[in-house]
Amino acid sequence: MLGGMQDWPLRVMRILDHAEREHGTREIVSLYPGGIKARSDWAGIARDARKLARALERLGVRKGDRIGTLAMNHGRHLIAWYGAIGMGGVLHTINTRLFDEQLVYIVNHAEDRILFYDKVFAPLVERLRPRWTGIEHFVCFDNGEFDDLIAAESDDYAWVEGDEREPMMLCYTSGTTGNPKGVLYEHRSTLIHAMMQISPDVFDLSARAVVLPVVPMFHAAGWALPFSTAMVGGKLVYSTDYTPPVMCELMREEGVTHTAGVPTVWLALMQHVEGTGADLGKLNTVHIGGSAAPRAMIKYFTDRGIRVGHAWGMTEMSPLGTVGAATGDWDLLDEEQRLDYMCRQGRVPFGVELRTVDEEGTLLPRDGRSSGRLQTRGAWIVRQYFQDDKGEVIDEEDWFDTGDVAILHPNGTLQITDRSKDVIKSGGEWISSIDLENAAIGCPGVAEAAAVGVRHPKWDERPLLLVVRKEGAEVTPDQIIAHLSGHVAKWWLPDEILFVESLPHTATGKLLKTALREQYRDYKLASAA
Ligand code: AMP
Repeated sequence: MLGGMQDWPLRVMRILDHAEREHGTREIVSLYPGGIKARSDWAGIARDARKLARALERLGVRKGDRIGTLAMNHGRHLIAWYGAIGMGGVLHTINTRLFDEQLVYIVNHAEDRILFYDKVFAPLVERLRPRWTGIEHFVCFDNGEFDDLIAAESDDYAWVEGDEREPMMLCYTSGTTGNPKGVLYEHRSTLIHAMMQISPDVFDLSARAVVLPVVPMFHAAGWALPFSTAMVGGKLVYSTDYTPPVMCELMREEGVTHTAGVPTVWLALMQHVEGTGADLGKLNTVHIGGSAAPRAMIKYFTDRGIRVGHAWGMTEMSPLGTVGAATGDWDLLDEEQRLDYMCRQGRVPFGVELRTVDEEGTLLPRDGRSSGRLQTRGAWIVRQYFQDDKGEVIDEEDWFDTGDVAILHPNGTLQITDRSKDVIKSGGEWISSIDLENAAIGCPGVAEAAAVGVRHPKWDERPLLLVVRKEGAEVTPDQIIAHLSGHVAKWWLPDEILFVESLPHTATGKLLKTALREQYRDYKLASAA
């Protein structure tokens, strides 16, 4: 047949080329330790990435080699991302909050050949250096070391080309059991993910967007914002300090419109704003994910005219799976109905499919009631973990089991009810620990809450609620139970409420349920006597 279309490989460096060419003067702002603010722009990032690509080649790094970064959010880190990918390397972002044993495992498993790190992590690097057997070069982002490395290079460099299915990035899951597993992103999957992410019902990014990613660049590809923001030529604002006063100041000074992060960050920000009357400037969109966003948090932002995009995803999904956005019948819904909707995790964009199945693998209806194992497949979903001898982690129809338990509603919205390991099994029925926790957080005086299943002779398990009180608050168990009664079924009410000083978190800010379950599994409930 005569005729046809061009072959234009979907390679990630084309995103940066576009940003440089069409939005070259759009700024990248970085707040470094000590309050030092630095400014670059997309043209500057592209130029420095070319210089770095040359430097990496000079150091002997080759196509396909893994290039590690152990760093916070800043412009030099962004240059390292694009420089590493541009020279054909596989960028490996390392979670700085992991334990030593996990860091040793990950870096050796990835076979990183070079490591870029922030000065604040120098003690960690010194400690683990002898155990990281494959790293040949260590480059500190600070002290002029990184700047010197690229200063000597020319920026005359053509990105390494290749197949669009080649790998370009490696992220390890922050698994709470067993060894972390690596997810190897490809050029094509990452580029398609970015095209989806910018769209209105997803992150709604445009050239006017000023994005402050609070999510660390090492958490699930920094939620892919370094790619999607470049794609539209938005302005990026990075900070090495995300304490609420610094965040508020940055938002106002830089005109931040979009931000994204886990719920714990927003809890802190909300308390600061309440306490000081600080304002959030031009902020109009907050994306909340990583854990379920509590209703009170969603209401807090929407009451101030700020859109909340409640997002669900995972490292295995590059990471976006679903995002909440206004539905077709939005204008017909009242405020409570809208909040009900936003408390769920949203809908899939084109490119992702979802289904739920029961324990036997039988497909469940999308009826807003049936809860089961959530499975997914699509254009940016894992097929096999990196260097994993277990082989593919998908079934013969490509479905990947997320390990989450969920309900799908008739209009397609996803409602995550639990991690399958966290669900509380009482009398053969399931109690959602997430629902209990979020209902509890809505009670005045409660700062944070965790619901765990405790062994029970009659019911198998019953819920125990651990609560951290807000500073100075004197809320009682009875008050919390009274509050919960208005939100959950009677048989879901916790048998007991314990006040604790703090709750443990994973390296990505989720409640560390495994530790809590172990600690409280055999707790003696009065109801069990
Ligand atoms: P990670 O790979 O570290 O991002 O973790 C992915 C897991 O975080 C998912 O499988 C969910 O269990 C959980 N998660 C992410 N977003 C949400 C959300 N909006 N609500 C509830 N759980 C979430």
